Amino acid sequence: MSVDPSILLALVTMAGLLTGTLADPLIDQLYSDPLLYSPYGRCARCNTRLLPFGAIALIGYLRWRAHCPHCRRRFPLRSVLLPLTMAAFFAVTLLAHDDARRIGLTMLFGSFALIFITTDVERRTLSGRLMYAALAAAAIAGPFWPHHGVINLYATGAGILAGFAGLRLFFGLRLGVGDVKMTALLGLTLGLPGAAIAFGIAVIAALGAIMVASADSRPQMRALPYGALLGIGMIAALLWAESLARVF
Ligand SMILES: [Zn+2]
Repeated sequence: MSVDPSILLALVTMAGLLTGTLADPLIDQLYSDPLLYSPYGRCARCNTRLLPFGAIALIGYLRWRAHCPHCRRRFPLRSVLLPLTMAAFFAVTLLAHDDARRIGLTMLFGSFALIFITTDVERRTLSGRLMYAALAAAAIAGPFWPHHGVINLYATGAGILAGFAGLRLFFGLRLGVGDVKMTALLGLTLGLPGAAIAFGIAVIAALGAIMVASADSRPQMRALPYGALLGIGMIAALLWAESLARVF
C-alpha cells in the first residue's frame, strides 16, 4: 500500500500540530512553579477549566485572543508557537529524509530539542527530568539510527560530556549543568560529524541571540540561552547534517 506523498505530508504536519498542542500543557508541569495553566487546561490564576482536553494551545489561544476569558490572564506565546514549529519541523523532516527509521527518530529527538528551546527561552531552564528522559531515549535509540555506527554515537556522547564537564569544572566555563547534559544529548543523537556541525550552528545562532538578549529589560534574560542555542544546532544537524558538512 502506498500513500500519496501530499496526503502523507498533510498527515505528518497534522501529527506535528497535535504533538505540539499536547506537549504544551506538559511544559508547565516541568517547572517547579507552574505559572500558566495547571494542571491541564485550568487557568492558573482563576482555576477556571477552559477546555475539556486540557490543551489551551492554538484553539484557546485564537478563540480567546491569548487571554483567559474569565480573569484576562495572558497566555504565553509558546502555546501557539510550539504547535506551529512542531508541525513545520515534522513536515521538513519528512521532506529531508527517505529512511522511515531516521524520519521517526529525527521527529522524536527534534521534538525534545524544540521543548528544550521553548523552556530555555521562556525561563532559562532545561528541565532535569525531561533531560534524563531524553538521554535515556537517546541511549536506547543508539543502535537504531540507520546511518550511524552505535559506537560513534556513544563515544561522541561520552567524549563531549567529559569535555564540557571538564571545561566547566577546571576552567570555569560558564555553562549550566543542564547545558552540559544537553551537549551530551547532541553527541548521543548526532555522533560525528553531526555534533560538530550542531556546535557550529549554535555559535552562529549565539551571535543573533546576543543582539536579542542585550535588548531585554529583565536582567535574568540577558544571560544567553545556551540550551536553546544547542537545540537549534541539534535540529539543523538532525535535518541537514550531510549538506551542512559540505558547507563547513
Ligand atoms: Zn483565568
